[in-house]
Amino acid sequence: MKATKELLLKLQQLDDEIDSLVAEQEAIPEKKSELKQSLEEVTKRLEQAKQESVELAKRRKDLEIELESMDEKKMRFQTQLLQVKTNREYEALQHEITALEEHKSNLEDEILEALERSEILAGKIKEEEAKLKAETERVRQTEVALDARSKELDDMLAIKQDERMRLVSNLDAILLKRYERIRASKGGTAVTTVVNGACGGCFRRIPPHEMQNLKRDDRLITCEGCGRIIIWKPE
Ligand SMILES: [Zn+2]
Repeated sequence: MKATKELLLKLQQLDDEIDSLVAEQEAIPEKKSELKQSLEEVTKRLEQAKQESVELAKRRKDLEIELESMDEKKMRFQTQLLQVKTNREYEALQHEITALEEHKSNLEDEILEALERSEILAGKIKEEEAKLKAETERVRQTEVALDARSKELDDMLAIKQDERMRLVSNLDAILLKRYERIRASKGGTAVTTVVNGACGGCFRRIPPHEMQNLKRDDRLITCEGCGRIIIWKPE
């Protein structure tokens, strides 16, 4: 029985190791997709800044064309001003020119604002381009590292699985079935040890008479609290 208990403990330890390797392996695609997403976000920010910059340049061009047409209109008004005959005509025209000046001044303000925004955007684009470059490199390196780790995990898993196969071939088939059944229903842990006088699986305190049974080598004890196989190991 002592050998069986040792086998069970070894099997549980091996399965814990395998579970942790599998969990790490399974987390890799998620990590890769996070990297891809991060790169997409940086790319998107850069594209948005570039797009805004293009739209702004177009808007500025439109404003400048409008400003030019205002200048032409103003010149026409001024020529007309020299030819007016009545005071009323003169005043009406003067009024038009004042409105035109106001409109022109607004246009100039808008052009200036667009110019300032363009400069800020140019800085932002440069910044985002540098970020994209750095992020692309970081993602590339992390992907290489993840691929290498994935390969390493495959190799380690193959070794552990092989070790497990050899181990279970020495274990009684019914006991193995029992082990697998408990493991499946208890979050991967079928075998636990006594830790500080309690079950290492559910922390239930073990009464003295049960402890006596645990210390005997002629039987396997199941924890009454959690149903796991509990083994006493001299500490
Ligand atoms: Zn327990």
